Order: sequence, then structure tokens, then C-alpha cells
Amino acid sequence: MKKRSVLVIGGGAGGLCAGVAAAEAGAAVTILEKRVKPGKKLLATGNGRCNLANLGPARYFGDSGFAGQVLDHFPVERLLSTLEGWGLPLAREEERVYPAVRQASAVLSLLLERLNALSVRTVTEAEVRSLEGGKNGFTARTADGQTFSADACVLATGGLAGGALGCTEQDYQLAEGLGHRVTPLFGALSPIETQPAPPKSLSGLRLRAYVRLWAGKKCLQAESGEVLLTDYGVSGICVMQLARAAREALDQGRAPQLTVDLSPLLLPDPLPFGPISPDTADRRQDILALLRHRIRSLPGQDPLCGLLPDALAHRLRDRGPEEIARLLSAWPLPVKRVREAAYAQVTAGGVEPGGVDPLTMGSRLCPGLYLAGELLNVDGACGGYNLQFAMISGILAGRSAAAQSNPSTKPIRTGRTS
Ligand SMILES: Cc1cc2nc3c(=O)[nH]c(=O)nc-3n(C[C@H](O)[C@H](O)[C@H](O)COP(=O)(O)OP(=O)(O)OC[C@H]3O[C@@H](n4cnc5c(N)ncnc54)[C@H](O)[C@@H]3O)c2cc1C
Repeated sequence: MKKRSVLVIGGGAGGLCAGVAAAEAGAAVTILEKRVKPGKKLLATGNGRCNLANLGPARYFGDSGFAGQVLDHFPVERLLSTLEGWGLPLAREEERVYPAVRQASAVLSLLLERLNALSVRTVTEAEVRSLEGGKNGFTARTADGQTFSADACVLATGGLAGGALGCTEQDYQLAEGLGHRVTPLFGALSPIETQPAPPKSLSGLRLRAYVRLWAGKKCLQAESGEVLLTDYGVSGICVMQLARAAREALDQGRAPQLTVDLSPLLLPDPLPFGPISPDTADRRQDILALLRHRIRSLPGQDPLCGLLPDALAHRLRDRGPEEIARLLSAWPLPVKRVREAAYAQVTAGGVEPGGVDPLTMGSRLCPGLYLAGELLNVDGACGGYNLQFAMISGILAGRSAAAQSNPSTKPIRTGRTS
């Protein structure tokens, strides 16, 4: 009997997992990747260490309700056992999951070996410019005029984030051409430009901090972790987590402001990484008490010496303890703008999942089409949520495409944005 054929467009985390899953389910699979090699973005993840999943509570935005349904159907533990079954040893750092060797290249090599063993054909430098089809099959045409046809198609072209590692707005037209709507695209998990920017002499400093985002007197969100000071503003994971809310506040004309609380540099409490309650205590009085104690116990000596990085201590040296405590507990940095998608780690917006079945990732608008990964209007927080969604949705899409699973017709909850 002739094997069912599946075309996967996009050789990133989602597309490669779709390819393995479809081939394991018995399909003849061809992956089309526009770059010279597949998996370029995957190699850059987690600073090359590849934080591929997170066992904590789901933190998704965009159509978070859809993401929740996908994960209810295919939980993260199942992704981990699937990857281990494919031969990838994993390791946990608290809730974050990495390949045991802490190398993204190990994940990519494993997926490529698996595809090879399953005789999947991977065609690189094959940029798909048009895609036509429906229940009788699909034909993709590439920029250099080649055509590829198959019974079913998985679209996994990723998002704009990461600049040269990402796709372009034109690539979203493949889904639009088959009837899907694309919501406005922007960078989430992006650095934030501030006005004024931190002093140039501090640029490049990485500091442990709590960062709060304010609109007037209301604290919209607070995160803790490492902040990177730059000549345009601030970056680092905890800042990037605030980018989506900062952008929304800017769009609403609410003049958002960041305050950086550097008390974790001075006070002994352990620093949690991730979201913190917006009501976490203001540490100004504690910092002030510490400074006064040092002034008393080290007379004639700079009270900041040995407490702070030199460049920062130097900038604060001539100020009184009250002002130093105020600046170190809530250094105000008004938000100018959130850097565009090219600087972001993930794209907010994308194909509306309302047109997609979360159980199969099958299109409700174009039978035989399946969609996966960052292309969809789902974006996760830092910490493995985005790769996890790309891989899970890819596996579901690949399996369903191979089995010709039809989308369920039961109505789904969509549109919940958290
Ligand atoms: C610097 C950086 C670090 C990150 N770190 C992490 C992390 O540690 N943990 C985490 O969870 N997430 C991380 N992310 C996010 C994560 O990498 C992405 O969300 C994830 O890779 C999305 O997978 P995808 O398969 O949907 O898209 P991609 O991985 O982008 O793959 C899409 C593929 O499709 C190809 N393509 C696009 N258009 C076409 C076309 N027309 N024809 C043919 N091929 C096409 C692209 O070239 C690309 O290879 C990071 C992102 C960046 C930029």
C-alpha cells in the first residue's frame, strides 16, 4: 500500500519534531527548510544550553487557553519521556529542563539522526513561497521554482523573533493563503529601551535585582533575576519577562516606568528567579540601616566599597545614605519603547489558534493542513515554555498528519489572554 506522504515546511524545533513523529507513524516525510541548515534557532536557545521545557505552572500569553488545551492533551512529562525515548538524556535545574550535556547541538544532532534513521528527506535552501491545497493534497513551490507535493502538510515556519534566525512577515502568508487569520506581530521577551538610559559607565553590568513595572502608582508586574544594563536601557531575562506588559502599557498611553531594586546585591536573602508578587516589600529601610551601620563601623571609609561593583559604587559615592538607599531600592527608568521582534526571543501574535484543533493541530479551515510552533498566536515566558510548545505541537501535528486525523468539530475555548 502506498505510504501517506507528509510535507513539513520549516526545519526548526517544531518542524523537526513533526517530521520524526510523522515518520514514526508510517508516513513518507519531506522537510523543506529555507536556510542552509535546519535548526539554526534551536542552536541559539538558552545561550547554547537549550532550556527545552519547564515543569512549573504553564505561563503562556496570546491565546493561552489554546496552549492550555494542547498541554492538557499532551503534558510536558510526555514530551520528556518522548525525547528520552528518542535517545536524549535530560537534566533538571529546579523546574527548567535541559539536555543532560547542556548543549543545544546535542538536541539538534539527535533529531537529525532520528530523521535520518527514519529515511526522512530534508531539503535545505528550499524557501517555500507558495502553498496550495486542501483535502486532495498540497503543493509547495520554492523560491527557486522547485515544487513538492504531498497528501498532508505541516506548517512550522516559526516567528519573527531572533532577527536572522527567524522568519519574515512574508512567511505568514502561507497560512493566510489557506484561510488563516494572523493577529498583529510583535516581539515578546525583548529588551526594553529607557529614557534616560543607564549611564554609559555602567553599560555591560549584570546585576541581581527585583524589577517592577509601573503605570502610575500601580505595579503591573514584578520579576526577579539578573538585569543587564546597556547603553539603550535594560535587558536580561527578568526584564524581558516584563516586555509584553510594558508594550501594552505604552500602547494604552500609560507612560510605564521600571524600577530596579538592587537590594539583592546588599542583603543576604536568597534571590528567587521568576515572577514575584508586585507587593513584595520595599527594601529601602533595610538598605538605609545597612549603610548607617557601615558608616558607623568603618569610619572614614567609603561605605559602598566592597558592597557593590566598582562602577556603580563610583557613581553613588558623593550622595548621602538616604539618596543612595532610595536609588538602590527603586532606581527609576521610564520606558521609552520595547525593542522590536528582531531582538526578541519569541513572537507575540501569529496565526489565530481558533482555526486550529488543539488535539490534532489540524486546521479547521483547510483539511489536511496542520500548524505548529511559534507561528501560532501563543508565546510563553522565559524558561523553556516556547521550545516545549513548539515540540509538543510539532509532535501532535506530525502524528495527526500521518494518520489523517480530522480536526474535532467540538467548540473550543479561545482568545484567553493572560
Ligand atoms: C536567542 C534565542 C534564545 C531562545 N532560547 C530559548 C530557550 O532557552 N527556551 C525556549 O523555550 N525557547 C527559547 N527561544 C524561543 C524558541 O527558540 C522558539 O520559540 C522555537 O525555536 C520555535 O520553534 P519553531 O519550530 O516554531 O520555529 P523555528 O525554530 O524558528 O523554526 C522555523 C523554521 O522554519 C524555517 N522557515 C521559515 N519560513 C520558511 C519558508 N517559507 N520555507 C521554508 N522554511 C521556512 C526557518 O528557517 C526555521 O528554520 C529562544 C529564541 C531565541 C531567538
